[in-house]
Amino acid sequence: MKKETKEKLSFASKAVYYDPDPESKSLNAPIYLSNNFQYDAEIYQQIVDGDRVEANIYGRCGNPSEYKFEDQVALLESADGCLAVASGMAAVSTTWFALLKTGDHIVSDWTTYSSTHEMFDHRLTDFGIETTFVDTTDIEQVRQAVTDRTKIIYFETIANPTMQVPAIPPLVELAHSRNIILVCDNTFASPYLIRPLEWGIDIVVESASKFMGGHNDVIGGIIAIKTGLLPADFLHQLRWSSLTKLGGALSPFNAWMLLRGLQTLPVRMERQSKSAMTLARHLDAHPAIQRVWYPGLTSHPQHDIAKQQIPKFGAMLTFEVEDGPAAVKVCAALELCAFAASLGSVRTITQVPATMAFLDVPPEQRERMNIHDGMIRVSVGLEDPDDLIRDFDQALSNTHC
Ligand SMILES: *Cc1c(COP(=O)(O)O)cnc(C)c1O
Repeated sequence: MKKETKEKLSFASKAVYYDPDPESKSLNAPIYLSNNFQYDAEIYQQIVDGDRVEANIYGRCGNPSEYKFEDQVALLESADGCLAVASGMAAVSTTWFALLKTGDHIVSDWTTYSSTHEMFDHRLTDFGIETTFVDTTDIEQVRQAVTDRTKIIYFETIANPTMQVPAIPPLVELAHSRNIILVCDNTFASPYLIRPLEWGIDIVVESASKFMGGHNDVIGGIIAIKTGLLPADFLHQLRWSSLTKLGGALSPFNAWMLLRGLQTLPVRMERQSKSAMTLARHLDAHPAIQRVWYPGLTSHPQHDIAKQQIPKFGAMLTFEVEDGPAAVKVCAALELCAFAASLGSVRTITQVPATMAFLDVPPEQRERMNIHDGMIRVSVGLEDPDDLIRDFDQALSNTHC
């Protein structure tokens, strides 16, 4: 299909359609299980001459199965280009390595994925890159934190695990008036719910291990970009100066698994978001629950912003019970829902962020991030919502919450 025709399709049609393989005509993409590719004289000469080489060379630098996945993600994210990598954290670190140097400054939201926060707070400081943490829902805080050295403003479209939804337009206006690159993590929303590049964001990083893959069976990550503020050859730099050096290449098999996962992303997100709304409403009315954070509830502090940016509100919610031990008891008492680390799959998964993902963040900082000990994060899956409600009710009553 012609590129222009493909671009005119709706998201759901883009997600399922693939051009048949030109050689075999197979509907699904072949998996290229090869880590080496034969040179010809011309490629050899280009490499020797130090020219930019876009050909297949070695598996760490790219593989045709990955290119197919990258093209598909670029189409779905409305991106000018995409790089596939081995994990969500490889997406984050590969992006930093391409953009930052000693002396640069970052403004990040307080609340981000735990490993991302630790990178900002510890690892990047070792390289002389400082981060100022702010609440990005308050644009004045962001404005005050920005300095002449600020290279990046960073946030999550739906923050982990507080479900905070920062307004994007004021961030874009501020960042671009100062030539600052806006990077956001879109893992909790997925491109089906929001395409941040269409809102003016420069770079989207995402863990494909979550909603994109959708079945808890693959680890992967993506970096999707809009050229504009970025150098014209930024995608090339990302691949050849950053990914190839850091080494976080996606395996061809995982690229294929992710291509398959993307085909059902729209139906999964649609159904999982609906069930999340049903469950959020039920939990909100439950006497044992102190509070529910779900962008679709009118009690959510950014509900009006979420209505514009993420109108289907997503499949992630957080609620709070009395304290940490009670939260663990509830998760362990669930029968249908899993008590596990990750999210974004067909199964409903719960976790206690304070003592699981954010265990290494000191308690005072966790409070600053609005992560309370009694919080339970829920990634709502494809089960019947009535069964989910029954499972949460029995877990809450059996633990005498
Ligand atoms: C899981 C996750 C990551 C890291 O992704 P991996 O694929 O596990 O490396 C980054 N950001 C968010 C919001 C996540 O949920």
